[in-house]
Amino acid sequence: MGTSCFNFPLILFGGFLFRRYGMKIGIVGGGWYGCHLGLVFKRCGCEVDVYEAEADVLQLASINNQARLHIGYHYPRCSVTRLQTVACFPRFMEAYPTFSKPIENNIYTVSKKDSLVDFRTYCQIMEASGLQFDYVNPADFGIAGVDGAISTQERLLDFDEARRTFKEKLGRSLHLNSRVTSVVDGPDGAQINGETYDTVINCTWCALKTGPQPENMFFEPTVLLYYEALQPFYGALTVMDGPCFSIYPYDEDRYSLSHVSFTARGQYKTFAEAQAFNDQVTEADLDVVRCNMTEKALKEFPAFKECFRYLGPQFSVKTKYSNACASRDTAVKKQGHVFSVFSGKIDTIFIAEDSILEQLGFKSETSKIALFPDLDMENEESELERRLQRAVG
Ligand SMILES: Cc1cc2nc3c(=O)[nH]c(=O)nc-3n(C[C@H](O)[C@H](O)[C@H](O)COP(=O)(O)OP(=O)(O)OC[C@H]3O[C@@H](n4cnc5c(N)ncnc54)[C@H](O)[C@@H]3O)c2cc1C
Repeated sequence: MGTSCFNFPLILFGGFLFRRYGMKIGIVGGGWYGCHLGLVFKRCGCEVDVYEAEADVLQLASINNQARLHIGYHYPRCSVTRLQTVACFPRFMEAYPTFSKPIENNIYTVSKKDSLVDFRTYCQIMEASGLQFDYVNPADFGIAGVDGAISTQERLLDFDEARRTFKEKLGRSLHLNSRVTSVVDGPDGAQINGETYDTVINCTWCALKTGPQPENMFFEPTVLLYYEALQPFYGALTVMDGPCFSIYPYDEDRYSLSHVSFTARGQYKTFAEAQAFNDQVTEADLDVVRCNMTEKALKEFPAFKECFRYLGPQFSVKTKYSNACASRDTAVKKQGHVFSVFSGKIDTIFIAEDSILEQLGFKSETSKIALFPDLDMENEESELERRLQRAVG
């Protein structure tokens, strides 16, 4: 396995297809989705421009998040989101082997009191989805008030490594400090700030509206709390499923504490309104959030206060749509020459890639086969499981 983003057949076939069409692709947004899709089309031989409003790639939600490389353990109630991450995780590991790190003990448990599913049901769902795990004794990990716990293969994202690689590989295709103010579709292409492209891809997580968006979509200001460990912590702890908390490593020095009920801070119609909410949060507001989150964390992890010291907040904005099963799936809509990407999880960048390539006449099945030349399509489920195993070693 090399560090290159794609296997040879995709480069060959994609390069042939797009060079022949001589496509010029404009991408708005240099987060995970914009950077990945920029590389996809660059490697296909297209002329690519990625416009990012900030001074660097991977800003905003692309780094202000939990840094969890999802595999599926987090979504027992939504099969689409779970299976998207089950399918995409091995592809992420093959394409970007250096963008994540293992977590020694990545523990998932199910709260007796607050969870919407019980532990046995949770484990059955994970097993049925082809996800591997080991049963562990909750007490060995300082966990109380649960029926059981499992150790998983979920990993930690390395944002610095991803940022460095994306910047290097995108090279002159990348335009930083370049806010897009207009995307205009026309009969022969679409314009970004007056520059014409065959195809435009909006990767702003809907911050810029360029086409159809999910009907009940909203922007959610979020807050996670950073902590330092006062004594060696075993890895990561995620309590499922519903109004529960997680303690997850963020980088070498920090962990984040989040809680479904207190991390989400409201629902706004525009990205700007949600960001304005974050800008006005006071120290007193944060004290309340910290108090609430700590109280909840102490229930299933009673040693929380002895183990961690508060460092400060992480603010972000999440684009979501209302639904009962907490789904976070990735979807793409096309209107004229403009694609709008609705991002789910970070590793589901490949769902957007497949969808866009297919809509441009590049069959998604072809792209899947090209990425995994030996994929047995008849037996895809067990094949994905095998690759998952291989990817996490
Ligand atoms: C609190 C929180 C926790 C999360 N935890 C996880 C997790 O653990 N694991 C996971 O997989 N996912 C997680 N997510 C989801 C993850 O953050 C998103 O899937 C991901 O950031 C989407 O990437 P993106 O590139 O689509 O959008 P973004 O990361 O929002 O990037 C969009 C980019 O577009 C740029 N932009 C916006 N408007 C313009 C414009 N007009 N012109 C030019 N550029 C523009 C922005 O500056 C930004 O850089 C979390 C999200 C939040 C908020």
